[in-house]
Amino acid sequence: MSTDPHCLFCKIVAGQIPAQRVHEDDRVIAFHDIHPSAPVHILLVPKLHLVSMMDVQPEHQALLGHMMVLSARLMRDLGVTGGYRHVLNTGKDGGQEVQHLHLHVMGGPRPWAKG
Ligand code: AMP
Ligand code: ZN
Repeated sequence: MSTDPHCLFCKIVAGQIPAQRVHEDDRVIAFHDIHPSAPVHILLVPKLHLVSMMDVQPEHQALLGHMMVLSARLMRDLGVTGGYRHVLNTGKDGGQEVQHLHLHVMGGPRPWAKG
C-alpha cells in the first residue's frame, strides 16, 4: 500500500494535517517534531507508506540512502553545526509510536530535553 488514509504521517504528506515543513521532494518530506527533544528536532518521512524498517525491501535502498544524505543537508541548512543524533524506532519493542517509517534527526546546543 503506497498510502494509508488513516495514517497520521500520510495525512501530513497529503497536506491534510499541518506541519512545520522544512523540505519536500518527490520521495520525502521533512518537518519539525511537534514535541522536540532537542533545540532542532526534525522528522524525515518517506511519502511511501512503509510502516517501519520491518517493511523495508532491497527496492527501498535508494530511498533510505536519500533520507540519510538529505538529513545532513537539512541540519546544515537549519544551522546545526555542533553535531546531531539520528534515531529510527522500529516496532513495539523499538518504541515506535507512529506507524509510518520516519527518521528522527536531533541537534543543537545541549542540554536537550531527553538524552
Ligand atoms: P516515534 O516514537 O519514533 O514513532 O516518534 C513519533 C514522533 O512523532 C514523536 O517524536 C512525536 O512527537 C512526533 N509527532 C507526532 N505527531 C506529530 C505531528 N502532528 N507533527 C509533528 N510531529 C509529530
Ligand atoms: Zn502512512
